[in-house]
Amino acid sequence: MIGAALIYSDRLLGYDFGPAHPLRPIRLKMTCELIGACGLLDNPGSRLLDPRPAAEHEILAAHDPDYVEAVRRLSVDPSAGIGSRFGFDSSDNPAFPGMFEASCLYSGASAHAAGLVAGAETRIVFSISGGLHHAHRARASGFCVFNDPVIAIHRLLEKFERVAYIDIDAHHGDGVQEAFYDTDRVLTISIHESGQWLFPGTGSVDEVGSGRGRGCSVNIPLAPFSGDWELERAFEQVILPVIDRFSPQVIVAQLGVDGHAGDPIAHLVYTSHGWLAALRRVMDFGLPIVALGGGGYDVRTVARLWTLAYADMLGIEVPDAAPREIADKYQIHRLHDTMGPSIPKERARAARRYLDENIDRLRRLLGI
Ligand SMILES: [Zn+2]
Repeated sequence: MIGAALIYSDRLLGYDFGPAHPLRPIRLKMTCELIGACGLLDNPGSRLLDPRPAAEHEILAAHDPDYVEAVRRLSVDPSAGIGSRFGFDSSDNPAFPGMFEASCLYSGASAHAAGLVAGAETRIVFSISGGLHHAHRARASGFCVFNDPVIAIHRLLEKFERVAYIDIDAHHGDGVQEAFYDTDRVLTISIHESGQWLFPGTGSVDEVGSGRGRGCSVNIPLAPFSGDWELERAFEQVILPVIDRFSPQVIVAQLGVDGHAGDPIAHLVYTSHGWLAALRRVMDFGLPIVALGGGGYDVRTVARLWTLAYADMLGIEVPDAAPREIADKYQIHRLHDTMGPSIPKERARAARRYLDENIDRLRRLLGI
């Protein structure tokens, strides 16, 4: 069995909302180049795989046929007057030519990752273009057209009885939570900046699932200026006990890096060290993992953190100094952060208090 695989091809760069949009496809290419320059693709335990487009039935596991048809039409004619009904607008989610094919490739990459993990061929597969957790059943949202985490989880449910989804992106994983809100076969956990301050506005502690799924949706909202300390505490106090109790057979991890202190969109202040420690906590369960990308709007931070993540997935250390060619080409000099964020004391205290109040409420709601 191969240790870890990475899914990437330049064809993934076609998922592009345009030059003014904050989601920049170049971040994927930079990540793969940095991973390669660090020698990680030459490691005998590593494999680089091509993405494949998702099949229609895979997309339809997560989306309504009307919506899929609308994406297909808008992909040919982005100005067809149907976009606004399905969440396509001129700012966050503008329809673009080739959108259907690009979205199918993103979803197919994650479905392929799930297939390899389900087939026990690879212990961890990292689909860096994946993690589009905001897409709804019949609506694009938050830069997401098709919800590849949902598609990947459906693939895993063919093989496994219980799947845990852990989302450390700065935004609430609303589309994934919604898709599995009333089932007890999928545990969804999202730690994110609270919807009081950040898109999409959902993800409060009270959203715990319904019917058979009660207790299987877990949300840990954070206040602005929450960082490594809060992330670690949330894992210790909530995420680890909840996963232990659920006893999953496989994990899907959404590894958005927009909670990093240098990210221009969210207001969390994780460092590379704290973010990576969270990933290690997830890997410590020793379960097979489908790892997905996610948000991240400072392209250098994305490349650094996902390279560090892939090294961890392979179980090897990489030198902190970035290889010369990457330093020259992309001005990335070190993989880890060299400085922590400076946070006003009062803000830091407020962030801790906010988390601890939420942990108390979660303990009562979830019985942990
Ligand atoms: Zn995000």
